[in-house]
Amino acid sequence: MENKINFDVAIIGGGPSGMMAAISSARKGASVVLLEKNKKLGQKLLLTGNGRCNITNAEFDTKRLVSYYGKRGKFLFSAFHLFGPQEVMDFLKEERVSTKIERGGRVFPKSNKAESVLNALIRCLKKNNVTVVCNAKVHRLAEKDKRIKKIVLQGKKEVFAKNYILCAGGVAYPATGSTADGIRMAKSLGHKIEEINPALVPIKIKEGFVKDLGGLSLKNVEITAKRGKKSLKKFGECLFTHYGMSGPIILEMSKEIGEMWKEGEVSLFLDLKPALDCKKLDRRVQRDFQKYGNKLFKNSLNDLLPSKLIFPIIKLSRIDPQKKVNEITRDERKRLVGILKNMEMTVEGTMGVDLAITNTGGVSLSEIDEKTMRSKKINNLFFAGDIIDLDGPTGGFNLQMCWSTGYVAGKSSAKP
Ligand SMILES: Cc1cc2nc3c(=O)[nH]c(=O)nc-3n(C[C@H](O)[C@H](O)[C@H](O)COP(=O)(O)OP(=O)(O)OC[C@H]3O[C@@H](n4cnc5c(N)ncnc54)[C@H](O)[C@@H]3O)c2cc1C
Repeated sequence: MENKINFDVAIIGGGPSGMMAAISSARKGASVVLLEKNKKLGQKLLLTGNGRCNITNAEFDTKRLVSYYGKRGKFLFSAFHLFGPQEVMDFLKEERVSTKIERGGRVFPKSNKAESVLNALIRCLKKNNVTVVCNAKVHRLAEKDKRIKKIVLQGKKEVFAKNYILCAGGVAYPATGSTADGIRMAKSLGHKIEEINPALVPIKIKEGFVKDLGGLSLKNVEITAKRGKKSLKKFGECLFTHYGMSGPIILEMSKEIGEMWKEGEVSLFLDLKPALDCKKLDRRVQRDFQKYGNKLFKNSLNDLLPSKLIFPIIKLSRIDPQKKVNEITRDERKRLVGILKNMEMTVEGTMGVDLAITNTGGVSLSEIDEKTMRSKKINNLFFAGDIIDLDGPTGGFNLQMCWSTGYVAGKSSAKP
């Protein structure tokens, strides 16, 4: 890149929001430059949905869609109205990416590959003549009289534009490039930053047995987090990792668990069979024990549990694994049922921003115009994506917020 370059719009950050902003701006006729500090665009996008990219959620009713983002969600009403889940799916279809809807309205590419979404965005950037510059770390935005005058890159190169969009992400998963640079720049330009905390983050578990369970995913289970009189319960899917637990219900509880943990010890109780109360589960176990009466206890639980869980549960039950099933006492069986309904674990904190999916906080909504994503403090500055003080639950809601705010910021910034 030459030392001085003039564009209509300069975009900082080549994540989902930056790429969408660039496409939307260029489609309106603007000359656009997209600056990304990594070697490649969309590093975080490639990790989304475990590499499958949960693109959006098939919640097509805008009122219901905004409700997923809590009280602040109404800020998104206008952006979702303009470019909601249907528009995202249509956009991808135009770019030859077919989508499918899974449980809970989660939308994925039919290819099951985040790469196909990223490649479609890159194709579209090219088609619309966006100048993409990678290895371009923005050092600062130079401001005068409430206008950005230029971008100063690391290495002192400068980029000039009429309008600027800050899409440099938040603080979650910094290994992908989201290292709060954008938040620092917004702050130094006088913007209010709402308190930032990791959100949708895996948790650490003290008990060593979880290491052996790493990779085990459990569907239709119930988890209760308890600290003193405070308790929180969720039903759904969870995942064991080598350090603790993750998966949809854990991620969704993580914010509250983190807050409870700051006050003291938090216990987690995993109910492996929430559809059966203790009596019914006891009858079910009795049936299995009758069926396998002459087998060893360690060989009798295959109908009831995934194989990875059998040994940890046997250990917790303190029943001799070599004992014959028909020698197991009533008390031992009751103890086993108790563990299946209430497997206790101790929380050792969250994994923090390093492994968080997103973060709470960011540039205050009070300083962004919701119809255009324009800063209320700096006339030619716009925001999009995770940098904004918005976050949603799992299910495609965070990316949808990025697509929509990116689309609106791009479209509004294209006007001179
Ligand atoms: C593991 C994981 C899985 C996820 N899965 C899903 C999912 O399935 N569905 C979903 O909806 N959401 C998911 N998310 C959340 C989603 O990825 C984010 O909401 C989204 O990527 C945010 O997009 P963004 O463009 O705002 O920011 P980012 O994706 O963070 O992109 C910001 C870009 O700006 C660049 N940048 C930063 N500073 C500078 C600088 N100084 N100069 C130049 N460039 C800079 C960064 O390198 C980065 O490329 C997941 C997140 C993680 C971590």
